[in-house]
Order: sequence, then C-alpha cells, then structure tokens
Amino acid sequence: MNTTTAASNPRSLLTSTRLTTLRACPRRHYLRYELGLARVRQEAARRFGSAYHHGMERRNGGVSLVDVTTEARAGYATCPDWAEPTDWAVECETLAQLLAGYFWRYENDNLEVLAAERSFEIPLTNPDSGKPSRAFLLAGKIDAIVKLPDGRLAVLEYKTAGEDISSDSEYWLRLRCDGQISLYVIAARAMGFDVATVLYDVTRKPTIRLRQHETPEQYGKRLLDDIGERPDFYYARREVPRLEDDLAEYRAEVWQQAQQLLEVRRRADRLGDPSRAWFRNAGRFTCSYCDFAQVCLNGIRVAPGTSIPSGYQILTDVNPELERQGA
Ligand code: SF4
Repeated sequence: MNTTTAASNPRSLLTSTRLTTLRACPRRHYLRYELGLARVRQEAARRFGSAYHHGMERRNGGVSLVDVTTEARAGYATCPDWAEPTDWAVECETLAQLLAGYFWRYENDNLEVLAAERSFEIPLTNPDSGKPSRAFLLAGKIDAIVKLPDGRLAVLEYKTAGEDISSDSEYWLRLRCDGQISLYVIAARAMGFDVATVLYDVTRKPTIRLRQHETPEQYGKRLLDDIGERPDFYYARREVPRLEDDLAEYRAEVWQQAQQLLEVRRRADRLGDPSRAWFRNAGRFTCSYCDFAQVCLNGIRVAPGTSIPSGYQILTDVNPELERQGA
C-alpha cells in the first residue's frame, strides 16, 4: 500500500500536540500530520497515559474504584507477542495502584464535574482583522470542566509525568507558558463555560522498580504502600491561571504558526519531493522521542506514492484522539 497525503482536508485541525510537533521538528510534523504516518504499536509511555486517562474519564462518569481498576486490569488481560510478560504485568499493577491511590487521595475533593471529555473545533481567527482562517480550525479535547468549591469554573487537565512534580519544580514554571492551557480556556469559553482558571492535575509515574524475586503483585502492593506514605510525591494539583494577555499572546502565536504552515505547504507543492520543504530538526532532545527516528534517520524517504515502511500505518483520521462526539 502506498502513502497519500492527509493535507487535502479542506480545513485541517490544529491541535496543541500538532503545533508542538511542528515547533519541535517540521519533518516529524510532515510525516505525522500531512501524511498521517503512525506506528502500528503504541509505545509504553503513551499506552500507559491513555489507559490512566481512561480511568480518570470513568471516575468522572461516577464509576466506582472497583469497576475502574477491574476495567484497567482487563486491558492487560492478554499479553501481546511483542511484550515481555513481566513488564506487561508490572505496567498493569502500576496502572491499577496509581488509580487506586488517586481515588483515595481525592476522595473528598468537592469538584463538581459539569462536562467531561469534550471535543471542540473552533475557528482560528486573524488577531488583527478578526476574520476566520479558511485553512484551519483549532481543535482539541478538554478532559473536564468542573465547578470548584468556591463556585468558580475551571478547565481540568490530567497528565501523567515521569519527572519531579513538587511545588518548586520546573514542571509548574513551564506551565505558565503552556499554549495548550490557553487553547483550552479559549475553547471552554467558546463552548459557553465561563471558566476562570485551569486546574492542572498531575500523577507522577513511580520511580521504584520491581525487585529481584518479587512478583508483579508484590510490587503492586509495595507501590500502594509507598503511595500511602508519600502521596505528594505521586499526586499534585494546582491552579494555573490564564490572564487575558496570555490568551491574546496565544492567539497571535497560533496564527503566526498557521501562516508558516501554509507557506511550507506552498513550497512543498512546488518541489518534486515535498518532504524537502519540511526540514529536519535532528538533535538528541528531538530524535530520542520521535516515532519516526527509524525511518527518518536511516534516510528512508516517505512521501505520497512511496510504500509505507514496515511497522507503520497511514491513519485515515490524523487526530483519532479527538473522537468527534461532543464537538
Ligand atoms: S528523527 Fe529527528 S529529524 Fe527525523 S523526524 Fe524525528 S525528530 Fe525530526
């Protein structure tokens, strides 16, 4: 099967992840969002994040801890051929125990969930003229909109992290400049929710590991004990406010990125090999986290009409995470 191009969509969706990908490496953006190339096998970090996220979604829907963890474990019932069975079982235990810890930690958080898993597609407007873009829409999915105990409305955003999330860590400093949060505030207001702030909810992945002669179940028990002893290591929730100035800055930035994207597309159309318009940003901090390193760094050319590399697929929807319900 040959590749085609996903850029023919009359109005492409600009999600926060897409914009981040474009900034990190235009070639990666080309492969993922213009061609729709994706790995067949989901990598561990993304798989775990999705499963944890699903547990949060079920909690917001009023599902009990027992049912949420039973469902989480069911997702790991069959170990695929390509996975190592012990690693697979440890990942299952980690997921179940972090979910259990979360339910315990936030049992009495007094948040009222007003909406959950809301996909959106809203106009991208020129910040000077106010006119909507004919090429792009802004899109995304908000984890939840909640009413805080003091009555204010907030966008609730869940994340799992593999780094320090203590109150003085850089994690929180970076969020002050995070575009995704600005986008979600803009989108929530466009959907009719007068949100005042963002409640950022982070779960840190464990740093303790399976010991020699320990079973995955024993590891899970030890992890749950550790969560009970130092919950602040694993869970953190903080308000990350957004000022009108932040939102205006975001609108200007995203418009500028959209113009750059159009310019690269125009150049790509004029070249025999369109991938050349999307230059590489090869570096340790870009390529090490790239799904396409195997293809790109080995010089395997992927463009419309070339065959799909082994281990990859072409997505018919380049934003499957949006699942258009609730748009
Ligand atoms: S391997 Fe590096 S240069 Fe190539 S697409 Fe990925 S991030 Fe870009």
